[in-house]
Amino acid sequence: MKKRYAFLFDLDSTLVNSGSAGRWAFEQVWEEVFLRPHPFTGIPFTGGTDIEIIQAAAVRDMGVKLEQEQIERFFSRYVEVLPSKVALLPDNSLLPGVMQLLQAISSRDDSLLGLCTGNIEAGARAKLAPFGLNRFFEFGGYGSDAVAREEMTAHAIRRARERGGDDIRVIVIGDSIRDLEAARANGVKVALVGTGKTNADILKALKPDLFFDSFADWETVLIKLIEELQ
Ligand SMILES: [Mg+2]
Repeated sequence: MKKRYAFLFDLDSTLVNSGSAGRWAFEQVWEEVFLRPHPFTGIPFTGGTDIEIIQAAAVRDMGVKLEQEQIERFFSRYVEVLPSKVALLPDNSLLPGVMQLLQAISSRDDSLLGLCTGNIEAGARAKLAPFGLNRFFEFGGYGSDAVAREEMTAHAIRRARERGGDDIRVIVIGDSIRDLEAARANGVKVALVGTGKTNADILKALKPDLFFDSFADWETVLIKLIEELQ
């Protein structure tokens, strides 16, 4: 059957509570690679792309952005360190209903699943692996595609259209203001979920196309997502 719907999921605090593993890895790797105390305390990670986050830290710490070569050194070590940090996450880090929701979408003939995450692709894969979620995502847009979330989201949408056709109906699903802004900038629908750090009232006030407190009631979530795209 021709694919009609594409569901593009953010990762941290949308699928898995894995943001702290990324933060621990950033902190350790900064000190190893740049031989200075890490500057990440108080730097917001929510909704940011990986390169955006380290550049904000670099500007705070050194007054200038990192060079390309420094970015490459940082992330080549990051992908080595990250799995050991993800292994420290508690067992309940996989958010409620996520596994069932992804299984239900992936079993539909009319739907595509993709990632839409500020993590570099290797980082996203490392965060999903222990929870058995990589099998659901053949493609995505990643922090390794672009620094700006809007542009990263455009890559995810383009890849969905390459697979499903130009008339495929796309919805971005995330937990932050940035997910919504990036979806809107690309002219696609957006569903927000209140499992992240941003207060639910703040998210609802942005008037996303859909809002869910969580995916625990995944059957209702799926019905509403499909209805919204029809
Ligand atoms: Mg997130």
